[in-house]
Amino acid sequence: ANFMRVVVSEDRSSSSSKEGVELLCVVRAVLKKIRRRVLVGDKVLVGSIDWDDGRGMIENVFQRRSEILDPPVANVDHLLVLFSLDQPKLEPFTLTRFLVEAESTGIPLTLALNKCELITEEELESWKMRLRGWNYEPFFCSVGTKEGLDAIALVLRDQTSVIVGPSGVGKSSLINVLRTSGGVQDDNWFEPIIGNNKWFEDQRVGEVSTRSGRGKHTTRNVSLLPITEGGYLADTPGFNQPSLLKVTKHSLALCFPEIRKMIEEEKCGFKDCLHIGEPGCVVKGEWERYPYYLQLLDEIRVRED
Ligand code: GDP
Ligand code: ZN
Repeated sequence: ANFMRVVVSEDRSSSSSKEGVELLCVVRAVLKKIRRRVLVGDKVLVGSIDWDDGRGMIENVFQRRSEILDPPVANVDHLLVLFSLDQPKLEPFTLTRFLVEAESTGIPLTLALNKCELITEEELESWKMRLRGWNYEPFFCSVGTKEGLDAIALVLRDQTSVIVGPSGVGKSSLINVLRTSGGVQDDNWFEPIIGNNKWFEDQRVGEVSTRSGRGKHTTRNVSLLPITEGGYLADTPGFNQPSLLKVTKHSLALCFPEIRKMIEEEKCGFKDCLHIGEPGCVVKGEWERYPYYLQLLDEIRVRED
């Protein structure tokens, strides 16, 4: 059986507080039958608890605030998009792809640029200005020199976050630093599911943290690790290959913050406008990333047609 580790957040049925207690839980068969997949980060209802053995059963999953699929995590509050300024070089179109994928989730995001010690002050300033034109205020940091890491830790505070970005930019290094600073050991990594029991008076509610099938080959399970300032960070980075599957030709423009406001304020007035030169469209052209927009739009149209 696959076990999920649940951290209890609320226990209505006993006088002594069980908050923070961890339970090893199986998922009730009926949930599997109705394809109700329990994700890391889910809030769940736990029943059939044996406090002495630390066992229980996940009986229901509460509605999610958000969910992402790569890695599979529910109730993500925040995405940290991480790129490096050099080694590998910051590539604006690749960055745009990741940003669009992140924006399409609707989850708030922060952009951080790593390895800042590898470029000159002038280059850094020039990226700052350029990205301001895209409506992003990036954090500059170096996991190597520790520069700018405090600011990032602050951004992650009290939230459930996932770091996303291409390979080689320093995601694992950053996760490692944040983990050690928390003094958390490997076997403390866990996957919380937080519950809030409204309907089942005699059952307990918990925060689930999983450790499935111990030592089983390579089924990679994402875990959430608690960080110093409070909150959780996924141990596995995400968006390996931004698929843009949640982006439609009509939602694409909304994934570009530099024109999103214009569209939301209906400056473009045309419903269903793709902003590709329709007469009277005010959104077309004139912005740096317009060629990227067109390229991604092409990709999406090929997929949709
Ligand atoms: P990931 O693929 O995004 O997880 O990247 P890694 O964390 O594996 O890092 C890739 C390489 O970049 C490793 O050799 C790291 O030591 C190196 N690296 C990480 N952060 C920095 C940094 O701030 N500066 C420099 N110069 N190298 C870094
Ligand atoms: Zn338009």
